[in-house]
Amino acid sequence: MAKHIFVTGGVTSSLGKGIIAASLAKLLQARGYKVTIQKFDPYINVDPGTLNPYEHGECYVTDDGAETDLDLGHYERFLNISTSQANNVTTGRIYQTVINKERRGDYLGKTVQVIPHITDEIKRRVLLLEEKDDYDIIITEIGGTVGDIESLPYVEAIRQLRLDLGKENCLSIHLTLIPYLSAAKELKTKPTQHSVKELLKAGIQPDILVCRCEHKLSKEVRNKLALFCNVEKESVIEALDAESIYDVPILMYREKLDKIALKKMGMKVGKSLDLEAWKAFLGKLKNPTSEVNIALVGKYNELQDAYKSIHESFVHAGASNECKVNVISVHSESITKGNASEILRNVHGVLVAPGFGERGIRGKLKAIQYVRENNIPFFGICLGMQCAVVEFANNVIGLKSAASMEVKENAEHPVIHLMESQKDIKTKGGTMRLGSYKCQLTKGSHSAKAYGKQMIEERHRHRFEFNNKYTKKFEKAGMNMVGINPDNKLVEIVEIPDHPYFVGVQFHPELKSRAERPHPLFVSFVKAAGDYRKSKI
Ligand code: GLN
Repeated sequence: MAKHIFVTGGVTSSLGKGIIAASLAKLLQARGYKVTIQKFDPYINVDPGTLNPYEHGECYVTDDGAETDLDLGHYERFLNISTSQANNVTTGRIYQTVINKERRGDYLGKTVQVIPHITDEIKRRVLLLEEKDDYDIIITEIGGTVGDIESLPYVEAIRQLRLDLGKENCLSIHLTLIPYLSAAKELKTKPTQHSVKELLKAGIQPDILVCRCEHKLSKEVRNKLALFCNVEKESVIEALDAESIYDVPILMYREKLDKIALKKMGMKVGKSLDLEAWKAFLGKLKNPTSEVNIALVGKYNELQDAYKSIHESFVHAGASNECKVNVISVHSESITKGNASEILRNVHGVLVAPGFGERGIRGKLKAIQYVRENNIPFFGICLGMQCAVVEFANNVIGLKSAASMEVKENAEHPVIHLMESQKDIKTKGGTMRLGSYKCQLTKGSHSAKAYGKQMIEERHRHRFEFNNKYTKKFEKAGMNMVGINPDNKLVEIVEIPDHPYFVGVQFHPELKSRAERPHPLFVSFVKAAGDYRKSKI
């Protein structure tokens, strides 16, 4: 049977529960335990797939095609494992299951209620991962903040699970904020005391307090927290703001979070802690020998989380190249209105981001034309690749009226068109082409060289695709289709062989980059940007 660790948050949102959970998991994994993490989100959407990135940041897609919370990206990047639909559950999904059961007649004669029916379904989902693999430890992160109405059923389910599974098999970690009042020059513990009181009211005594703070916790503050929150002194963990999220596992190790957790669950701490690969990554990350500027052209730039995985992929690829990657957010609409050569003057590479809808497309096309004509490395992802195709049709092939059907439904030359499989689909939730598919690479292409193999698997999230009717025209004019799905012949990668680096991918490579296993296309793109920079000096 697996041991369960529950991570709740108090005082405020955005404390970085996902990072703390992933860091603890990393340490437990480094001690030889088989660990996974899951996230429960208290909103009523069935999944975050239909949410605007401004609302909730990026939507992370798993191999099995689940549209999930971006915290799953952190789990994968830290642990170097793949997650699945089972690792992310929302209140909407819980209710949907219960309501479907009610309609089927499973509860015939009974009133369906939050307790026990909703809480039973939460408990069933918490335990579901046990059936998937023989995990030693399953970490469950509860989204939201304790005290919110939405979180109540989850907190109640944890209380029940502690009884069902035995207290020794369950550990409760509460992440809170210790604010610093600069006028009083003091760290304040009161908000945490109140937050723990909320948990206690619900019948849960946290075993460990992880305290986010901007200043070190003095011994007095630690003692006070222990006393008022009824936890052992050694179980008050300081989580100072870190320079990089990738430092957090090391900080948590220094605070002995892993040891304390294992001890409390009656598990062996063991001697060896294998963090070599992680430390090697951190070493390179902190000691770059060169630097490049890369423009990230997108339309959700106001919110960093909207392109979370792309930013992290650049961190991984930068470290691997021992190169500091300065990602410069460029709003595509600013290029629509302005001058691409001026806006992109100091960059050594341009990545055109994924996205939906018409807004910002003009700017993306202008940016692509500029980098294509000036031999500046280009990397287009999903919509970015589709824009590269349209730009090439317009300006190289000379099909001035070529467009994506997403932008112009009745385009004369729909070089990007709706996938056959999408034509009859009317509903929006979970209906795109989602998840992992195979792709065959052309020998000798940039991509095949970067991957070092010819059959790859990447994750997708789209409705439109390259229109194969135009393949010959493109290849004749100098854009090659170098990645093809072997089963249905969908174009997955386009390249311009006569350009130092011009790669567009229909899939999302950023979803498979990990700290200890950077994505080959990001690595080769950053390298190309470095080469471009050198050529300019
Ligand atoms: N909007 C495009 C499509 O649906 C691209 C999607 C994306 O960039 N993820 O095909």
